[in-house]
Amino acid sequence: MNDFDKAIAEAFPLVAAPKKEPLDARVGSGIRYVVGSNGLAREVMLPFMRVVHMVSGFGPKVNLPYGAVEPVAEMWFEGIPRELIREFKQAAVDALPNEVAGAFIWDECSNDFRFAKRETLVANGGYVSYREVKLEKGEHLVVDVHSHASHPAFFSSTDDKDDNGSMKFSLVLGNVDTPSVSSAFRLNLAGYTFPASIDADGNVEVKL
Ligand SMILES: [Zn+2]
Repeated sequence: MNDFDKAIAEAFPLVAAPKKEPLDARVGSGIRYVVGSNGLAREVMLPFMRVVHMVSGFGPKVNLPYGAVEPVAEMWFEGIPRELIREFKQAAVDALPNEVAGAFIWDECSNDFRFAKRETLVANGGYVSYREVKLEKGEHLVVDVHSHASHPAFFSSTDDKDDNGSMKFSLVLGNVDTPSVSSAFRLNLAGYTFPASIDADGNVEVKL
């Protein structure tokens, strides 16, 4: 095989889903494709989570001899401490009437999370630009957070553009000038987005 196609095949391997045992996880960060009896899936291995999601289903006429691919979203962190959301909410209130941005950063060695506010460059009630936070060794930016000031929380076309190609969660808090703060949360995975939620104990669930 020529070097170019060999490099592509090595960077993005393709495997068949086993029938008699679970699929072994990809070793190391990166992307792998999995063909199963039910369709084509993409496996994404990140330093903080592993996701297997369907890319395309097969019609009834396609009868492949492999096992079925099961969607998976496994996280290596235990949950997102509610305290971080409170810290971010306070930063959002302090920034009113403007938007503000920050990050929830996870340390893979200590398993701790910290909130880091991003230094605002330009901001108003519908926009914020900022200086990116610095990560220490072993730290990963797991949740990208920003506020919508007095507007409701949702993912705008600007948010879609900002998140395009990224592999992390995004959290938006809106209506932060009222007692009824609204929120929107999702997982961005290089071209795909999946709705997600955080329960009262900080456990994260992704709907694949
Ligand atoms: Zn936004």
